[in-house]
Amino acid sequence: MRSLDEYLHDAEQAHGHLCAGQVLGVRLAMLGLQKLGIDDPRAKDRKRLVTFVEIDRCATDAVAVVTGCRLGKRALKFRDWGKVAATFVDVSTGKALRIAAKESSKALARQMHPEIEDKNQQQMLSYREISDDDLFALQWVKVDLPPEEFPGYKGERVVCEACGEGINFRREVQRDGKVLCRACAGEQYYTRI
Ligand SMILES: [Zn+2]
Ligand SMILES: [Zn+2]
Repeated sequence: MRSLDEYLHDAEQAHGHLCAGQVLGVRLAMLGLQKLGIDDPRAKDRKRLVTFVEIDRCATDAVAVVTGCRLGKRALKFRDWGKVAATFVDVSTGKALRIAAKESSKALARQMHPEIEDKNQQQMLSYREISDDDLFALQWVKVDLPPEEFPGYKGERVVCEACGEGINFRREVQRDGKVLCRACAGEQYYTRI
């Protein structure tokens, strides 16, 4: 595994700026990989890892940089729970670790560096210095990963009987004897105008 500073450099490039969320995300991902014994996620261990992220904020970009897991490779899964947390699944062993940033970390940053007024600067420095134990809560978990969730899954593509659009990865819904996409089954996030 590379150093915190090397990952932060890459994270800054990918994210567009360096911020407290990057420091938090890089450390969170480094800890996850270390606990799972995955030291080369971008090369040798490339196919071993699936990562679930629970927020679409700065830290998530950093997690993607360190793990090499990307949405477009199906190795990064987004669960929109609004929490600074991620679960790292070693698909070669089934072992999975969920790591969440502790809510107390912000207060701790204020205590450690009251002399720094800018919140982001204060947290950026503190999040480098705070111990893993004070920064994160860890839990070993079990994640059910059906075949269609795996990055390399090759499945049949079906067509929605209502809108005619193709659907991959078993995301279709059976409704009244019809095969429908999730939008036509009522899960639309948009309305037609
Ligand atoms: Zn940011
Ligand atoms: Zn449809």
